[in-house]
Amino acid sequence: EVVDPEDLIKMRPLGHGSSGKVYLVQHKATEKLYALKVIQVKHEPSVSKQILTEVDILRRANSPYVVRCYGSGDKGGQISFVLEYMDRGSLANVLEKHKALGEPYLAEVARQVLNGLHYLHINKIVHRDIKPSNLLLNHKQEVKIADFGVSTILASTMAPCTSFVGTCAYMSPERFDPDSHGGIYSGYAADIWSLGLTLLECATGHCPFLSQGEKADWPKLMVAICYSDPPSAPADSSPEFKDFISKCLQKDPALRPRACSLLSHPFITKDNGSSVDLSVLLQSMSL
Ligand code: ATP
Ligand code: MG
Repeated sequence: EVVDPEDLIKMRPLGHGSSGKVYLVQHKATEKLYALKVIQVKHEPSVSKQILTEVDILRRANSPYVVRCYGSGDKGGQISFVLEYMDRGSLANVLEKHKALGEPYLAEVARQVLNGLHYLHINKIVHRDIKPSNLLLNHKQEVKIADFGVSTILASTMAPCTSFVGTCAYMSPERFDPDSHGGIYSGYAADIWSLGLTLLECATGHCPFLSQGEKADWPKLMVAICYSDPPSAPADSSPEFKDFISKCLQKDPALRPRACSLLSHPFITKDNGSSVDLSVLLQSMSL
């Protein structure tokens, strides 16, 4: 299934981020709904080629836990992506409505996201921007990872000083270390850190490194992430959740478990069988 952005009609805006805008669109012939993400970039033809290569990687990813990309266009300094439409919005939207999520919901969200990360990692893709607004939901109670690869594309097309769009609040300590430069291992481990932080935000209602309502301040965040003890689960959490979070949020990336081993962590497996119903969370989320 390949969809040309030219064959779509814009219905309405779905949201916008630091890099561009997202629209609900409908295919003229099939009447199917998609999300169209439009990113404004100033780039040269050589960079443009590189972008199209990366878009290829994006298009090849085919997992039920990853938002599908059906096509792309590059026109007049605008890159657009035709994406699977996720009709219940992002985990960030869910958090705005529900403030904090109970552990059974967290475990089900974590299970699906870990499956997505496992898929990306075995295909040698590091996401690098796992956070609530990049985890999308639909009425089928599916949670999918969005925007993978897009952060890489953006980093390669923007001036160095602005190469990181959005926030660094979910970045792991080693990513601030100019000498560590990842190594293959810590790249994957950085996604595990970001997942831990995202789940903790869902449990408490606010980002662990930001006090409520505080705006992200780069230097301050960096100092907090690198020099304070890693955040931990609230005192009244279950032992399983506490352990899961402490395993994800270890400062040494080599100690963080891989996505596949976290899938068999007791926090994920304990509610198995009494499969968790996310519909309560999604009811009021009309998009
Ligand atoms: P940032 O740019 O800082 O990463 P962001 O992730 O919120 O923030 P976008 O990726 O541009 O920015 O997405 C903006 C919003 O559009 C999301 O929060 C989400 O609500 C909506 N959105 C994005 N992709 C889809 C999609 N495939 N289906 C439905 N809604 C989407
Ligand atoms: Mg996003």
